[in-house]
Amino acid sequence: KLHNTILELKGNIRVFCRVRPVLSDVDCSGTEGPVVSYPTSVEFLGRGIDLMHNAVQKYSFTFDKVFNHEASQEDVFVEISQLVQSALDGYKVCIFAYGQTGSGKTYTMMGKPEPLEQKGLIPRSLEQIFQTSQLLQSQGWKYKMQASMLEIYNETIRDLLSPGRPGSFDANAALSKQYAIKHDPNGNTHVSDLTIVDVCSIKEVSFLLQQAAQSRSVGKTQMNEQSSRSHFVFTLRITGVNESTEQQVQGVLNLIDLAGSERLAKSGSTGDRLKETQAINKSLSALSDVIFSIAKKEDHVPFRNSKLTYLLQPCLGGDSKTLMFVNISPESSSVGESICSLRFAARVN
Ligand code: ADP
Ligand code: MG
Repeated sequence: KLHNTILELKGNIRVFCRVRPVLSDVDCSGTEGPVVSYPTSVEFLGRGIDLMHNAVQKYSFTFDKVFNHEASQEDVFVEISQLVQSALDGYKVCIFAYGQTGSGKTYTMMGKPEPLEQKGLIPRSLEQIFQTSQLLQSQGWKYKMQASMLEIYNETIRDLLSPGRPGSFDANAALSKQYAIKHDPNGNTHVSDLTIVDVCSIKEVSFLLQQAAQSRSVGKTQMNEQSSRSHFVFTLRITGVNESTEQQVQGVLNLIDLAGSERLAKSGSTGDRLKETQAINKSLSALSDVIFSIAKKEDHVPFRNSKLTYLLQPCLGGDSKTLMFVNISPESSSVGESICSLRFAARVN
């Protein structure tokens, strides 16, 4: 029996696990699905990934929090609203969704626009931030918010808000831009050529999110299923100034829908698909390396091993706050991938 204790990852890094509902009844047979026990444990019975051991074995994982198929978007948001709030207080926050394609990453992050209960944590976070920032006006706080949205595909940044998009998507023009990442001594990140938009209301950001979604799907027809093959990074920079006390805060909220973590079938993958998968594997393992070495308080954190970790460097480690959702598909056919995802989070190889 394996027991992986994620709670050992202390400090400002937390890991939540969410198991989505079964979507069809085609594949809900068998005994190999996950069993979620509140508040922190997930267990699997499965043949899993150790082909050496053909017998069914038990895998147990412990998280900071677990959600089963019954957990609503609201239930999930309640658990993260304080973290979101801390971006207004001047912290740098990253929330990731990790998991195989179809496990519920986008549902967790964006959710569905209708019905309203299905809104995900991006719209809910933004609503909370704009509401709270208005309330804080009465205490003299004035906030400036700036949004950017990008995706990282094959270790290349693409601006999802670049003018002219969507509709006139021009891959060559997009690729000719460098999107060089620079960090200044104040811990601010600059990405050259990246569109940054001042936003004052949830309406404005919602519009931008729609624009970004369209940019992604325009790309999709050109590069197959790009949205699950690329990392989506939404960034909200928050600058607050208190007119009476002259206090200043600078917070950042990064909300990241990661590329699908599924491993490639051993045979039959060549060309673009292979290159894509190698890029995804490389960046996901770079992310795991970075989070792991921050959690272990190692002196050297290998931020530069991928675009994603380098981009987010100032927002990982230090006094910044990180939350990783591990999204899990409940079907027995996904047990192998699920165990890989859980191990990624538990960082046991
Ligand atoms: P991913 O982004 O990881 O590829 P999705 O978020 O697109 O996966 O989820 C796959 C499907 O499952 C979608 O149709 C989505 O609406 C549905 N789904 C995922 N999680 C849930 C959930 N917690 N409750 C209801 N439906 C869900
Ligand atoms: Mg998705």
